Amino acid sequence: MNTHTQQVVIGVLRERATGERRVALIPSDIKRLHSKAKFLIQSGAGREAGFDDIAYVNAGARIAALPDILESCDVVVKVRPPTVDEVPRGGCILVSLGGYDPDLGDRLRKRSVIHLALERIPRTTRAQAMDVLSSQASIAGYASVLEGARALSVLLPMLTTAAGTIKPARMIALGAGVAGLQAIASARRLGAVVHGFDVRAAAREQVESLGAKFVSMDADVGPGESAGGYAREQSSDQQALLRRALSTHLATMQLVITTAQVPGRPAPLLIDRDTLRMMPPGSVIVDLAAETGGNCEVTRPDQTVTVSGVRIMGPTDLPSLMATDASRMFSGNIRALLAYLLDESGRLNLDPSDPISGALLAGQNVARVSVAVV
Ligand code: NAD
Repeated sequence: MNTHTQQVVIGVLRERATGERRVALIPSDIKRLHSKAKFLIQSGAGREAGFDDIAYVNAGARIAALPDILESCDVVVKVRPPTVDEVPRGGCILVSLGGYDPDLGDRLRKRSVIHLALERIPRTTRAQAMDVLSSQASIAGYASVLEGARALSVLLPMLTTAAGTIKPARMIALGAGVAGLQAIASARRLGAVVHGFDVRAAAREQVESLGAKFVSMDADVGPGESAGGYAREQSSDQQALLRRALSTHLATMQLVITTAQVPGRPAPLLIDRDTLRMMPPGSVIVDLAAETGGNCEVTRPDQTVTVSGVRIMGPTDLPSLMATDASRMFSGNIRALLAYLLDESGRLNLDPSDPISGALLAGQNVARVSVAVV
């Protein structure tokens, strides 16, 4: 723990994962937190997102090297899970993604690092401003439509010209959560004829409120919604029924954005090779569930494969493509979390009985923590 200041010292690391251009905290948010904490920024941390070192210095932060940050900070913040040589010293609090990685959990526990895994932020009104999954899913949903539209050889909007009339493309989003609804809204703005589907009954109204058509299933395909607002995992029989029921709809679509996920579980398989054979050649699937196994049988993370004339894309870095705004939103979420945990005297409090801290500390056997430097 730092012994030279009254305030908690928070370090921000530069992302190392291939293609990752986001930064976890941007200068304007550091400025807003400056009265409550001191900040060390790894040199170049924000460069790829459009925030250079000088902007951080102007916001009141100090630029530092990785070993210095790992050794001297009380809290270390980053987007992606840390690599082996980015694990901070024992007793430190790490704020990052990686909550579903048991190996990372073991590594951090052995090192006595407290991990505030961002996937564990509860889906409650109070915690909404801290919810990085929502902010980044929103960007991914928007970007998925742009990527899909670029890969199609047809236009999304209807065009009436002297050369004839072009019919609008038909699009469907499978999974109408945060990413799916943003994909629906974005495809509507581009003029496609838009459809949506989800196993949660509440999704129908949300899909329809965006002017899209909700695709209904006659078969019993879903166990619906869990208490946390997420979908429950389907049985394998229900999944097979759903695949068959969806295939007749997918046979009429040119752009398919799949976003179906169940937290901590493999993504449900919604599109198999039989369905691909039924789809129009030249159609495009953008599978946003690629990182958790994919909603399509042939999806490969970060690759595009073509099967039966259908292009299946599995991008896992879409928020990073829009790194400036993705970082702004991610950083806004981290600022809200830190502002919640820090008190006026610069003390960081983690109380397992608090609904937000408790969710973040779940499974870590951590008693009440109060980090401050005296
Ligand atoms: P997610 O990323 O876990 O899943 C995406 C979507 O896939 C979900 O809508 C889910 O129902 C759907 N899905 C799962 N299995 C499916 C299947 N077999 N077939 C079709 N669809 C399937 O979820 P998400 O986007 O993070 O959000 C889930 C819910 O939580 C939504 O209702 C969202 O509005 C809600 N939410 C609430 C808050 C809040 O209150 N603070 C914040 C974020 C999200």
